[in-house]
Amino acid sequence: MSKNTCELINDLLPLYADNVCSEESKAAVAEHIADCDKCRTQLEKMGRPISVDPAEDIAVMKRIKKRIHIEKIVIGALIAVVVMIALFVLNFFLFAADFTMDYYDCNLAKNIAVEEDENGDVWLIRKNEACEAWHMFPNMIDANGNTLFDKDFDKNNIVAQCYTLKVRGSTAIGNRSVVMGGIEEQEFLFNKNDKPNIETIYYYDDTNDEMYVLWERG
Ligand SMILES: [Zn+2]
Repeated sequence: MSKNTCELINDLLPLYADNVCSEESKAAVAEHIADCDKCRTQLEKMGRPISVDPAEDIAVMKRIKKRIHIEKIVIGALIAVVVMIALFVLNFFLFAADFTMDYYDCNLAKNIAVEEDENGDVWLIRKNEACEAWHMFPNMIDANGNTLFDKDFDKNNIVAQCYTLKVRGSTAIGNRSVVMGGIEEQEFLFNKNDKPNIETIYYYDDTNDEMYVLWERG
């Protein structure tokens, strides 16, 4: 069984106390007892001279150096692993994850609207905070209320569309005031005449499973 650093230092303490060990050993003991109360106390208890074989001193010194070297490698590797895990988690939760814009927190009642122009083109208009969305996630709803993700979804009987605004984690957690008032973006959705079955457009808050009507066929 190998000895730990304290045990190895303890082997050297009598030599150190008598000032008969090598300069290298002396330095190693001095360094260790500066941080280790146990070994320092042990040294303070020593007063009696002991005769030691210098060959033993060198062998102990080699074992201490090896032990310290291994400890440094293990601690370094552990720190590297912990740092990598922390960065991965940070990246995932702060920067790579998407968050749904909350209808109330982001003032979406005021900041998103669906409007149609004289050609029957239907537009999604986003203002202010709603412009922070990096992704507009669309979905469709059939006459039975199923969406694209339901297995019974009837793609030949789509009666409504819904949209969910997503922000990147960095934006969701960061300062909302980055986007000042007055910004407006328009996005073409579809032509009303090309999709005569679409009756309603909703904002869909998929976190709380709430739908808000943005547009109804007039
Ligand atoms: Zn110690």
